[in-house]
Amino acid sequence: MKAARLYEYDPAMNVQLQIEDVRPPTINGPDDVIVKVGAAGLCRTDLHIIEGVWKDIMDEGGNLLPYIMGHENAGWVEDVGSNVKSVKPGDAVICHPHRTCGICLNCRYGEDMHCENSLFPGLGLDGGFAEYFLTSERSLIKLNPNVTPLDVAPMADAGITAYRAAKKAAKLLRPGAYCVIVGVGGLGHIALQCLREISGCRIIAVDREPAAQVLCKELGADFVLDGGPNVIEEVREITGGGAQVVIDFVGELGVENICWQMVRQGGQMFVVGYGGKVEVPTVHLVIEEINVGGSLVGNYTELVELMELNADGKVKMHYTQYSLDDINTALDDFKNRKFTGRGVIVP
Ligand SMILES: [Zn+2]
Ligand SMILES: [Zn+2]
Repeated sequence: MKAARLYEYDPAMNVQLQIEDVRPPTINGPDDVIVKVGAAGLCRTDLHIIEGVWKDIMDEGGNLLPYIMGHENAGWVEDVGSNVKSVKPGDAVICHPHRTCGICLNCRYGEDMHCENSLFPGLGLDGGFAEYFLTSERSLIKLNPNVTPLDVAPMADAGITAYRAAKKAAKLLRPGAYCVIVGVGGLGHIALQCLREISGCRIIAVDREPAAQVLCKELGADFVLDGGPNVIEEVREITGGGAQVVIDFVGELGVENICWQMVRQGGQMFVVGYGGKVEVPTVHLVIEEINVGGSLVGNYTELVELMELNADGKVKMHYTQYSLDDINTALDDFKNRKFTGRGVIVP
């Protein structure tokens, strides 16, 4: 089968993925499922993988290169192991990005991303930038009728990550409160729609790209800011002293240290994008009583909930489609923010 493999890490991100003919995956265990990939989302984590951000964590398992990237996958069940009962060949499915054991305490709490025996195909083992993809029954959610894999593939990771952060934020946001969404790309535009549906708050969307600003308005942001040098003052002005919640979908390039300054006394910042370092004076944490925390992917049931919002037309993924052969162009376009929403690879 055709697949895009990563052979080396490069902090300058000049390496290209190699499009090759490789052996397709086979069923090895009774719970295995092979999915014919319908679409696979391109994620900022893919850029970070190429940069080598994950190298040290992954090298504990030895050098795992080369492997097929791609962790935001949806498609059709191709083949199943002997224990698999909930799906059958031909079913359209979306794949939760974590392959979990179901046995450990964190799995039993329902927090799939904290599974002690978790695998993450696309990072250290083969993912979905290929014609076929190996996962397990526990990771699969059948798609609602009339929903295609292409409609939803990036929701497997970008979508639930945004949804989980929005859900955490919504718990803290009364009607009349403000939530700032910083970075309205693949995740931010989903968070914006989720907040619209599950919270009565007012939404301030911040993005430097004019095309993203247009999308924010279309999706119903109450205020759209261009992230210029006065953005902190602008947010304080609109909100009368700061927002109850700020969600940072950038998390690097200095944005992380602008975000906490937009938080109102007693408020919360959620870090979702990563790569930088948050540096808050401890006196500020005390006097302002702000909370700074992270949000990681999302659990299986959150992906189910997001699929329901999508099936009802309430939360939609905006995407630009690329063929597997054009994956390096897609990566370049992503780096240079040439598309709004998500880039999606269709093998
Ligand atoms: Zn992702
Ligand atoms: Zn587990």
